[in-house]
Amino acid sequence: MNIPRTSYPRIVIIGGGFAGISLAKKLSKQEVQVVLLDKHNYHTFQPLLYQVSTGGLEPDSIAYPIRKILKDFPNFHFRLAHVNEIDTVSSKVITDIGELKFDYLVIASGSKTNYFGNEQIKANSMAMKTIPQSLNLRSLILENFEEALLTSDLNERNCLMNFVIVGGGPTGVELAGALAEIKKGILPKDYPDLDTRLAQINIIQSSDCILKGMSDQASQKAEDFLEKLGVNVWKNVRVTNYDGKTVTTNTDLTFETATLIWAAGVMGATIKGLDGAELITRGNRILVNEFNQVKGFDNIFAAGDIACLVNEEFPNGLPMMAHPAIQQGEQLGDNMLRLIEQKPMKPFEYKDKGAMATIGRNKAVVDLKRFKFQGVFAWYVWMFVHLFFLIGFRNRMVVFINWVYNYIRFDREARLIIRPFKKKLKK
Ligand SMILES: Cc1cc2nc3c(=O)[nH]c(=O)nc-3n(C[C@H](O)[C@H](O)[C@H](O)COP(=O)(O)OP(=O)(O)OC[C@H]3O[C@@H](n4cnc5c(N)ncnc54)[C@H](O)[C@@H]3O)c2cc1C
Repeated sequence: MNIPRTSYPRIVIIGGGFAGISLAKKLSKQEVQVVLLDKHNYHTFQPLLYQVSTGGLEPDSIAYPIRKILKDFPNFHFRLAHVNEIDTVSSKVITDIGELKFDYLVIASGSKTNYFGNEQIKANSMAMKTIPQSLNLRSLILENFEEALLTSDLNERNCLMNFVIVGGGPTGVELAGALAEIKKGILPKDYPDLDTRLAQINIIQSSDCILKGMSDQASQKAEDFLEKLGVNVWKNVRVTNYDGKTVTTNTDLTFETATLIWAAGVMGATIKGLDGAELITRGNRILVNEFNQVKGFDNIFAAGDIACLVNEEFPNGLPMMAHPAIQQGEQLGDNMLRLIEQKPMKPFEYKDKGAMATIGRNKAVVDLKRFKFQGVFAWYVWMFVHLFFLIGFRNRMVVFINWVYNYIRFDREARLIIRPFKKKLKK
């Protein structure tokens, strides 16, 4: 990998997501060598992926080159590499560009889409976990409208204009709201010769409420907002299969659709070598102690979505969200320095910053520890928080200008099919 061995201890971090980047930032000014490996050369701000999928933002405004984030740190090395295996006996990682020895290893590989073992759904549905997947979805949505315009078969047109989102968490809700706004604001202008009333947006949730992790108040309000926008909210319905055209459920309900978006869950993105049953717990996450140390190892840690850190408040592990990942990365940085200096490490304490989701223009729900509010003010808070956490001044400016423009013009400029997504509708 062409990384020099120095007198400093070498810390290898797998993953340049929220946890990996906050950890690398903490460590890179210190007397350690930091090597960050990621299969992408950019950090993705996943909370805004749905805006890329729906043409609200270009991908480069929610992604940031990893090398640029850490360019000023002399002891920092980045390599574009897919880590295939961790050899815990020889303390090395095995990647598609070679092997690398580590003194300390931090797994911050995040999570991947969980299809709960259903291969047909995996093959036929659309996921939204990465920028390429969001671009595929954007292309497919737009291609569907183009095809709907051409077909004289009403069933096929309905199918092309019917969108089914599985999962009523923040991702599903935000996507449903954005699609409803496209139906209302964009379709009639872009496709005057298409009966845009045919466009249907369905969100399916297996439990009895959407935004399950949030307060009842937020959940109810979000549902009201979605219904106001014309979204069909289906609760207590579990999707059982999708063959590319028909969605079947555990009830009598079926949906004919060319687009099933799977936002029903994620699972830890484990790596061979550290994926043994004794280490893996609920959600395919690696069990760690209060110092983020992987069970049985002094020099291997995990942080962010991949790590399952259990405490009294969170018996199933901390939520798979950006804040726990950032906080774990920062605290782990301090702890690793303490460990190297042979000082006792400090246990991780999660400071819960609350949760929020936006449903559309002037519509958001915010649950803070002390306050819960919904509507226009919540929407401003949502925007401010997301702008604040975006990496890079340019990205913040671009996103802000886009949002102002979209707000004033009721528009989404990035509705481009740059890279067509090939999906053939079953006849
Ligand atoms: C659509 C969507 C919306 C979301 N909205 C919100 C929200 O509104 N609020 C919120 O708090 N959270 C939200 N989340 C969750 C949040 O994004 C995650 O909790 C957070 O990204 C976890 O950070 P992480 O560092 O653990 O992993 P990630 O940010 O996922 O980073 C993992 C990194 O590891 C790399 N990687 C993985 N495997 C390998 C490998 N084998 N080799 C090399 N590199 C590898 C990946 O390329 C990636 O860069 C959302 C997630 C999604 C998908």
